[in-house]
Amino acid sequence: MKKQLEQLSAYQPGLSPRALKEAYGIEEELYKLASNENLYGPSPKAKEAITNHLDELYYYPETGSPLLREAISQHLGVDASRILFGAGLDEVILMISRAVLTPGDKIVTSEATFGQYYHNAIVESAHVVQVPLKNGGFDLEGILNEVDDDTSLVWLCNPNNPTGTYFNHDELKGFLERVPSHVPVLIDEAYFEFVTADDYPDTLKLQETFDNAFLLRTFSKAYGLAGLRVGYVVATNEAIEKWNIIRPPFNVTRLSEYAAVAALEDQDYLKEITAKNAKERAKFYQIPQSKHFLPSQTNFVFVQTNKSKELYEALLKVGCITRPFPTGVRITVGFPEQNNKMIDVLQHFEF
Ligand SMILES: *Cc1c(COP(=O)(O)O)cnc(C)c1O
Repeated sequence: MKKQLEQLSAYQPGLSPRALKEAYGIEEELYKLASNENLYGPSPKAKEAITNHLDELYYYPETGSPLLREAISQHLGVDASRILFGAGLDEVILMISRAVLTPGDKIVTSEATFGQYYHNAIVESAHVVQVPLKNGGFDLEGILNEVDDDTSLVWLCNPNNPTGTYFNHDELKGFLERVPSHVPVLIDEAYFEFVTADDYPDTLKLQETFDNAFLLRTFSKAYGLAGLRVGYVVATNEAIEKWNIIRPPFNVTRLSEYAAVAALEDQDYLKEITAKNAKERAKFYQIPQSKHFLPSQTNFVFVQTNKSKELYEALLKVGCITRPFPTGVRITVGFPEQNNKMIDVLQHFEF
């Protein structure tokens, strides 16, 4: 066994709704608002695409997801050879880490960010520098100070999970101008579609200038397809060619590919979902207690408190399963009914 596995543990899911009901004696229906899923689900067209292709289950998928690759290529206006798909971004992060990192390599990221950057780096025996948050968000200056010529990867998460905060176009541009041009900068935009800030980075545009800026997106969040596992990276074709060697040949399933194409085509549905999210998210920031919340550009709100267990339990009592962290609780924005109940709890909570 790899020695470093002793430092890690398998992903720990929260208790299931059934187990939670039992443990806390809850009668009402529980809503899972712990993993930033889109409760509205995917476009009906994605479901239709799946039923239309049920007779093809016995075939392997077409390797490399060519239909989806073409659709994303058109949608983003980038060459199809610059896109690589994974069974979720989780697998993309794994493939990149596996392809790039050798023992002793250094990666730089933030603390309090998506855990898979760290996890996969440790599996590859790399050394991880985690720069503390600044004002609840990524400290790009602090990260620059840690990056040197020998850094193998930099992971940025924008907006960041679990804090919901973002950095803007000029900040990212300034970062890319100063980071050594041979150091790959991976920019995870899993919540891109939920962003409403005008100054959010146009990362595709920055990629025209910076060959080392790589962009990651997913169908799991706003597109509502977390259960099907589709994510992708847009990089240079040289990088994609190498990373593609790591990719398991049939990683994205046949039905996932069809569903993702259909979901992508239904931009009206996506707009409807993200508009609802923006409206519901704003409600959280209209209460005085929002001084405890980090500003969010996502479909979740991070509530800062050192009583995260108490807050988690209070939210559970009104039927909402959230995600506690040592410094607060991350709440996925749900349906209006759940949001209203959670806002009521927050208004009465002693922080
Ligand atoms: C949810 C999430 C992912 C993983 O997405 P999948 O495509 O479902 O694997 C990656 N990065 C961030 C920041 C996320 O929040």
